[in-house]
Amino acid sequence: MRGAPETMRVLRPRSPAEAVRLYGRHPEALPLAGGTDVMVSWNAGLLNRRTVLDLSPLREWSRIRRTRAGLVVGALATHARIRDDARVRAAFPLLAEAASVIGAAAIQNRGTLGGNIANASPAGDSFPPLAVYEAVVHTISPDGERRSRFLNVFEGPKATALRPAELIAAVELPFLPKRPTRQIFRKIGTRAAQALSKTVAAGLLWLDGKGRVEELRFALGAMAPTVRRLRTAEAFLAGQRLTPATVDRAVELLGEDVAPIDDVRSTGAYRLAVSRALLGGFLRG
Ligand SMILES: Cc1cc2nc3c(=O)[nH]c(=O)nc-3n(C[C@H](O)[C@H](O)[C@H](O)COP(=O)(O)OP(=O)(O)OC[C@H]3O[C@@H](n4cnc5c(N)ncnc54)[C@H](O)[C@@H]3O)c2cc1C
Repeated sequence: MRGAPETMRVLRPRSPAEAVRLYGRHPEALPLAGGTDVMVSWNAGLLNRRTVLDLSPLREWSRIRRTRAGLVVGALATHARIRDDARVRAAFPLLAEAASVIGAAAIQNRGTLGGNIANASPAGDSFPPLAVYEAVVHTISPDGERRSRFLNVFEGPKATALRPAELIAAVELPFLPKRPTRQIFRKIGTRAAQALSKTVAAGLLWLDGKGRVEELRFALGAMAPTVRRLRTAEAFLAGQRLTPATVDRAVELLGEDVAPIDDVRSTGAYRLAVSRALLGGFLRG
């Protein structure tokens, strides 16, 4: 492996409890799930850590479980498993769609949901669906278990609020109270596959019998240092009818919650324009 240290210590826990114990004893270790992000850094010579905590044998964390309140997706569930799971597709189709456009088949077969979250790229494709589904992240460390709202896990690009020796164990998806009137997932990238997003959007909309907005949840990725819900536009539209004027105003308000930058993949102006078009199109139906 190019750039890899000559000696590397691999810790291979056989159970989640052992993983937590080992990480507590070796908080300098680098957790390894599918390795699709870790190996890129490794090959670029960016990793000087010599201890790796290999989570991949933990079958318990690769399952998807149904509870009364929702689905609990293990941190080691691969994007392919999420993409193909009938329960995810039925109740959380936007997450299944996101899983089907992450990289391409090889990345989907190895990359995990927990790894996607812990990597905390501003452009993580699973993030807008998880933000609109109001997912809850289960973590575990030698200090015990915690549950965090999904959006609170991120502190900035590549930075999470995970504490030392804390692992993501699972992601809980609460069932929606009722079927949305409209829903959308869209990834805008340079190519159909193997492209990181210029912008990525997920939205859920509930209208009442009179055509008024009961609730809008709309989230954008790659438009700010971390994934963002459009709280200002969401609050503005609550209780309103979707007229040309209210839709235009919501589209304008999108700018209140995001701050897209120019980078190698796109310009901030393009990102803003295309996100506005996505939100406007979604609201117009
Ligand atoms: C060619 C290519 C294309 C890609 N395309 C996309 C794309 O289109 N969209 C997208 O969102 N991503 C993309 N990625 C990024 C990557 O595939 C995903 O982020 C993937 O989900 C990472 O999961 P993993 O299991 O491989 O993580 P790993 O590489 O094993 O780990 C990633 C990070 O998370 C930490 N980690 C892993 N699991 C845990 C855990 N349970 N608890 C705490 N920390 C943990 C690791 O220490 C590391 O810092 C791409 C990557 C490549 C190489």
